[in-house]
This record gives sequence, structure tokens and C-alpha cells, in this order.
Amino acid sequence: MTFKVAIIGRPNVGKSTLFNRLVGRKLALVDDTPGVTRDRRVHAAKLYDLHFDVIDTAGFEDAAASTLPGRMRAQTEIAIREADLIFFTIDAKSGLMPDDKTFAEIVRKSGKPVVVVANKAEARGAQGGMLEAWELGLGEPIPVSAEHGQGLPDLRDAVISALGEARAFGEEEADADEEAAASEVLIGEDITDPDAEPSYDDTKPMRIAVVGRPNAGKSTLINALIGEERLLTGPEAGITRDSISVDWDWHGRRLKLFDTAGMRRKARIHEKLEVMSVQDGLRAIRFAEIVIIVLDATIPFEKQDLQIADLIIREGRAPVIAFNKWDMIDHPQELLAELREKTERLLPQARGMQAVPVSAETGRGLDKLMDAVIKTHRVWNSRVSTGKLNRWLEGILAHHPPPAVAGRRLKIKYVTQAKTRPPGFVVSCSRPDAMPQSYVRYLSNSLREAFDMPGVPIRIALRTSE
Ligand code: GDP
Ligand code: GDP
Repeated sequence: MTFKVAIIGRPNVGKSTLFNRLVGRKLALVDDTPGVTRDRRVHAAKLYDLHFDVIDTAGFEDAAASTLPGRMRAQTEIAIREADLIFFTIDAKSGLMPDDKTFAEIVRKSGKPVVVVANKAEARGAQGGMLEAWELGLGEPIPVSAEHGQGLPDLRDAVISALGEARAFGEEEADADEEAAASEVLIGEDITDPDAEPSYDDTKPMRIAVVGRPNAGKSTLINALIGEERLLTGPEAGITRDSISVDWDWHGRRLKLFDTAGMRRKARIHEKLEVMSVQDGLRAIRFAEIVIIVLDATIPFEKQDLQIADLIIREGRAPVIAFNKWDMIDHPQELLAELREKTERLLPQARGMQAVPVSAETGRGLDKLMDAVIKTHRVWNSRVSTGKLNRWLEGILAHHPPPAVAGRRLKIKYVTQAKTRPPGFVVSCSRPDAMPQSYVRYLSNSLREAFDMPGVPIRIALRTSE
């Protein structure tokens, strides 16, 4: 069973552009056959490994143009009724308009699961709109650029958390209770109480992927981790033809591993093929929350490894390094110190990254590796209350305030955490354009230290304070 998505929002926010992006076409509506209802049609759409139908609501604008706002509302309501999930779309560039609130109210009343899509997020000044979108009370806005195809991995994740994995992947029909719970969470979370720090949910399967150069030991590691007897279910057919995920359990913690068909088979039959193509690598990274980078400790840190790590961080995922083949190392202590120092120096974007020596072959270090993975996942999910952030900010302003630019001191008003996975903060300040990058880096490092968030990407968005 696939699910149906309705893209809802006022005119001009980018609904058709998003529709086209999901359906993979140039034009939203080309069929002008008279007499055909143009309002609501369903098209197959895809977002990475998610397959669903989008209800085509083109025609809303025509309806509006025929000066019947009532009809526009009626059509929105029909689309919502038919949908299992709503993409409530706003224009982050222009910010919230009164119409957005009207549409939001209709969406809220429906009680359906909703993802707030903050479109045009690539535009200058979109951060303000992003922040405003929280006011809709429909949950975390996901920054997207429908036009440029940005933010889609996060949109995919948001769909999964709104619908639940089973439903998102079409494995089963969610029961009514689950559905109610999902919409409750979306509506309630963080809005009514901005200081709430929801506790970490370790019952949901954590998605991980294993990447690295050929021969680093990925297949051996996966086999050692999973072990046939630990394989709970799966390989699940049907996410895509050539990539699958495997569910398993590590000392009671549920995990979902991105697996390319044959990756495990390969190690078993010693084929010498490179099964993990670059494309697979990218898909694996987007699939995962935590990515284990396997390095061959006898030849660590080649350019390619650094590129992979950098890509993981840029995609907002959290890397954990496994220095593999540790059984072959003669002076392990010296080497470990050296490798850790190198990690910090070469990958300062995610300072404090977990890096664990392992031997996939003998199984040594695997427990420590998985502990590091779980720890990193917690950090990646961490949320800091607005109260704590602003007490932290007071200290910063007292001891290391922003510099003066062109004779005027830059001011910071407040900081909030706008998202998790990875942690993202909005800093409200005077003249964001004048804020030096070095100071933003300082803030990021200081946040990392103060709130104990090692090894994950930290996002900072500057916003103008009025
Ligand atoms: P709709 O009325 O909600 O269906 O909106 P459209 O899809 O027709 O888009 C309205 C306008 O916004 C068009 O000029 C699009 O090119 C533009 N637009 C759509 N998506 C984006 C985006 O991600 N970034 C920017 N900057 N413009 C966009
Ligand atoms: P992949 O290409 O990254 O999947 O690498 P494989 O898992 O196929 O491993 C490549 C080679 O390294 C194989 O010959 C493995 O037996 C060997 N290998 C993998 N892990 C270890 C390890 O921890 N120690 C040693 N000594 N050899 C290993």
C-alpha cells in the first residue's frame, strides 16, 4: 500500500514546482482536455526510497481566479480528505502571509499527519521565514528548495517520522491509534512549550550505513556485526531493486542497516567485485542517520576517505570512524593517538568525532564501535532548551561578544534551536550579512562544548532581529 500526499498552501509558494520535483516531470499539468476535471488527480511520485502518490491540486489557482475563494477552500479540503499525509508548503523567502494561517487552520482541523515544507529556502533571507513557520504550530519546518532540488533528504526523513516507517515504506496499514498519535506529536511538539526537551527515543530503529574504500573491510564488518543469527527480519524486498535494508538488533537496540544487494553475499563467496559504487555510497549516506566509515588502518586517510567524511557531514549525517584491521598493527597505542590527532585536524567540521579501532575479522572492538554509534546518534538527536541557550549566550556576550564591523558593534539578541538531526540553531542578530564567518565558527564550537555535542555537524543560521 502506498500512501497519498496532498501538497497544500496558498498560491505561489511553489506547490507545482514541488509537485514536478516529486513526480519527476517538467510540467505539472498539460492535459487541457475540456470536461476533464483538472482539480484532483493522482500521480506516482518518488523521494529516494519512498514511493507514493501525489494528489495534483493544480487548478486551485484557476479556482481562485474565478473569484471563488470558497471553491479553493473546498478543493483543499477534498484533497486533504483523500490524503494520508499533507505537505503544508510555505514560501520561506516571503515569510508567512495571512492566507498561510487560514490554510494551516484547515490542515490542523483535519488531524492528518503533516510535514511543513519551507520552500525557497535557498533564497537570501529565507531563515526568517523558516523561523516564522514554527508559529503555524504544525511542527518542524523542513527547509527545501523545490526549484533547486535541495533539502530533499530531510524531507524524506520528515515523511518517515510523520507516517512511521511501516506506513512510509508501505509495509502495513497503520491503525487508527497510531495515526492519531502521529498527528498529536506533530501538532504538539515544541510549539506549545518551546523549552521542552523531548527525551531521546531509542525504540525506533536507528538507520546506519557502512561506507569506505574497496577492501577496507566493509563486508567483513557487516557480517561480523550482523551475524546470521542476529538477523531478525529482512532482507526486505521492494525498497528499491538493488538496495535493501536489513533489520537487526544489537544488545536490544533496534537497527536498520543500509545494505546493497550482494554486499554480504560478496564476503561469503569472495567475489572480488566492487559492489559499493559511488551512487550506492551516496544513497547509503542519505538513507542513514549514522554512517560508519571503515578505514584500513594500515593505509588510513586517503583523499577519498576525507571526501566521504566531508559529504556525510554536509548531508547532515553523523560519521563514526572504524579503524579496521587493527589486528595487523604493531604499535597500536602510538598509531591510535596519531590517527585521532589526524582525524581532528583533517575533519574540523565535526570536532570530537568518534573513532574506534576494530578488527572485523576477529570481532575485537565491535562493542566499542556500536557504543560509539549509539552515543553519536544521541548527540545527533540532541535538543537544547531556549532557556539554556540564552543563559549560554549571556556568558558569550559577556566574555567574547561579536566584533564591531565598520565602527558599529554587531548585536546578538537570542538563540533558539530550530531543528535536530543534526542540531540546528537560529541566531537572531543585527546585520547577519556583516557577521564574520570566524565568529559563527566560534559560536558553533562553543555550542558544541557547552552542550556536549561532539562529532556531529552543527548548523547555524543567522537571522535579522527587528
Ligand atoms: P504554486 O502557485 O504554489 O504552485 O507555485 P509555483 O510552483 O507555480 O511557483 C511559484 C513561483 O515560485 C515560481 O516563479 C517558481 O519558479 C518559484 N519557486 C518555486 N520553488 C522555488 C524555490 O525553491 N526557490 C525559489 N527561489 N523560487 C521558487
Ligand atoms: P570491502 O571491499 O570493504 O567490503 O572489504 P572486504 O570485507 O571484502 O575485505 C577486504 C579484505 O580485507 C578481505 O581479504 C578481508 O578478509 C580483509 N579484512 C577485512 N577485515 C579485516 C580485519 O579486521 N583484519 C584483517 N587482517 N583483514 C581484514
